[in-house]
Amino acid sequence: MVEDPQCGTFLPLSEAVKATIHGRQHYFCSKKCLKEYKKTQNP
Ligand SMILES: [Zn+2]
Repeated sequence: MVEDPQCGTFLPLSEAVKATIHGRQHYFCSKKCLKEYKKTQNP
């Protein structure tokens, strides 16, 4: 299981949306969360 840093949901790795942000691998429950998270990472 991996944790979505945006919404805090745990989900199986096989179902996660993977993204590398600032050289770190992150896992999200949906592309929406990925998008939102990327927004929060911008200065
Ligand atoms: Zn999420």
